[in-house]
Amino acid sequence: VSARAPHVAIVGGGPGGLYLARLLRLSEPRARVTVYERNTPDATFGFGVVFSERTLSGFRRADTETHARIVAACRQWSHMELRYAGAVRRYGGFGFSAIARTTLLRILQEGAAGAGAELRFEQEVGLDDVAGADVVVAADGVGSAIRAELAAELGFAERAGRAKYAWFGTTAPFEVVTFPFARTEHGLFAAHAYPYDDTTATFVAEVDEDAWRRAGMDRSTAAAETPGASDLESKAYLEAAFAEHLAGEPLLVNNSKWASFRVIHNDRWHHGNVVLLGDAAHTAHFSVGSGTKMAMEDSIALARALAAHDDVAEAFAAYERERRPGVERTQRWAEPSQRWWESFGRRRPADPSQFAFHFITRTGAMTYAGLCRRDASAVADAERVFRHDATGGNGRPAARLHALAAPLALAGRTLRNRLLAPARDAHAAAGLALAGAGAVLVPLPVEPEPAAAAAALARRIAAAGALPAARLADADPARVEGAAAAGFELVVAPVEPGGDVAALVATAGGALPALAWEIPAVDAWSDAGETFVAHAQAAADAGVRLLLLSAAAAREEAGRLGRGLAGLALADRVRTEAGVPVALAVPSGWGLHPPADGQADDCSTALHVALVAGRIDLVASWPLAAPLHDGDAGGGLALTAPAPAAVIS
Ligand SMILES: Cc1cc2nc3c(=O)[nH]c(=O)nc-3n(C[C@H](O)[C@H](O)[C@H](O)COP(=O)(O)OP(=O)(O)OC[C@H]3O[C@@H](n4cnc5c(N)ncnc54)[C@H](O)[C@@H]3O)c2cc1C
Repeated sequence: VSARAPHVAIVGGGPGGLYLARLLRLSEPRARVTVYERNTPDATFGFGVVFSERTLSGFRRADTETHARIVAACRQWSHMELRYAGAVRRYGGFGFSAIARTTLLRILQEGAAGAGAELRFEQEVGLDDVAGADVVVAADGVGSAIRAELAAELGFAERAGRAKYAWFGTTAPFEVVTFPFARTEHGLFAAHAYPYDDTTATFVAEVDEDAWRRAGMDRSTAAAETPGASDLESKAYLEAAFAEHLAGEPLLVNNSKWASFRVIHNDRWHHGNVVLLGDAAHTAHFSVGSGTKMAMEDSIALARALAAHDDVAEAFAAYERERRPGVERTQRWAEPSQRWWESFGRRRPADPSQFAFHFITRTGAMTYAGLCRRDASAVADAERVFRHDATGGNGRPAARLHALAAPLALAGRTLRNRLLAPARDAHAAAGLALAGAGAVLVPLPVEPEPAAAAAALARRIAAAGALPAARLADADPARVEGAAAAGFELVVAPVEPGGDVAALVATAGGALPALAWEIPAVDAWSDAGETFVAHAQAAADAGVRLLLLSAAAAREEAGRLGRGLAGLALADRVRTEAGVPVALAVPSGWGLHPPADGQADDCSTALHVALVAGRIDLVASWPLAAPLHDGDAGGGLALTAPAPAAVIS
């Protein structure tokens, strides 16, 4: 656009639009830049927003003056604190800065005006109103009207979050970013609270929709529908629920009412002379604190692209090329985080250390090594508690051992470690038991395998210190009874999800009834995922004591679904929501698997994290069902898994 003085119309005077206005004027002083904002200069939603140190250094490179003003107005901290079930768990090494949204907007308004942009407040505009401009920037936020006019051309898609959140402030003394959890008669509520100046903190409350309804908040939300109104009934409810965390201080309201987070995606960020920026183009759940950052980073990239290209279409394409990968990476991290925040209320109560570790590892974005670098003592604490629980307090709680080496108490049995090894035949079974597996899964009948031989095999496995487990070809009661009578302590039958397990449970006798299921290749949070968890719940309620989950099909989908270990998200839901212990089958040779695409840790480390976080209880080699090929002796597990006492690097 450098050929002649262009007119750039920016619709929306939020952080994205205002920062762009300044940067455009700095890079192209001849440009006429107009920002249209429907509100007055000092009207805004929300309280404080956070930036990471890395984000701030990007701002510094783009515009030192604005950066300096933002930093001077920020409040910094480096810890995060989780308060759950009466306990406090702290993680260090999280350098963040927070600023009041009103202050940020004032700095950006002054910056834009100071650089010569024209700011027109109280002007709500649509595409027709800015038709004469050379470039139209839709920086009009998550509910963008400009985008709505071009929804088909842009390939717009939106997904509503399942939880409800409401953005409050508070004068309560929160020193660092704090996540208090409060149980009420209606369910578990949580808050994201962090200080952004000497007297005030952001306080975003979150709760799942069921609890929200039980608390009557659907009604109070409807009553506070008027634009600008706040839900004062919910404010009072939350003040009572979080009383111990608020220390007698009130919640502050500013258009504070419950909403569902809107996840925005557009296949294309521009059409003709219109380009999307910030929330209008994309959103990522606020729990990863990136919306304002992404909007302002968009501004930096778009200003640069418009300065570098005479042709507007080329400039837009360059802008999208630069920004899309980083934005989509953030959205990929944000999704599991959003899921975590949408589901904490459904999870069974857990030890606070495990709960905190589950939280801190929810996105998989941070490597285990990175976590240890940030706060080795907090990680060691979670590992110590995990091993202490695993040994019932009797074992030596040695941190740093791979979690696979920890014993497991399973319905009155103790497995010496978390390895469940499927054997091809009697020889392999005995070998795996001697090699140190916690449990050995034997296909029965091992042909030809008379009852006496089966009993002898179970004895040999038990004598070698492993739990003898039988895998049956069908759930025939005579077979189940036979396996239990032969001394197998765990009996795995192939009853499909939703099938009737009553006969299996009734005939298992002294053995523990278990099921082997294939994890469907679906998003864990889809309706199909929901049904799978419900089937697991029904099986657990009927007396099933372990689920062996294998993710052969989900493995194909793993990349697309953005999760590291195939099937882990659903296994996690089954374990933490249905409350039934889970053995996750992983491909043979997994001990050697490098990190997969989009996965922060290698497979072995990811399993350690999954065990310590309580997402799974046991690890089994895949495939569970098919007999192993000749030459694949021992299922690869004993050969390639870290030895149970392996130390994590
Ligand atoms: C609960 C919650 C907490 C958050 N916390 C953080 C955080 O800690 N860190 C962070 O980085 N981000 C956070 N965000 C995200 C952040 O608020 C947004 O991503 C950010 O505001 C996006 O900036 P924007 O400029 O794209 O849009 P907005 O800030 O939404 O600005 C859009 C502007 O356009 C105006 N407008 C809309 N339509 C029109 C029209 N037709 N004509 C004229 N003007 C119009 C609006 O009035 C508004 O001022 C949070 C979001 C939520 C919901």
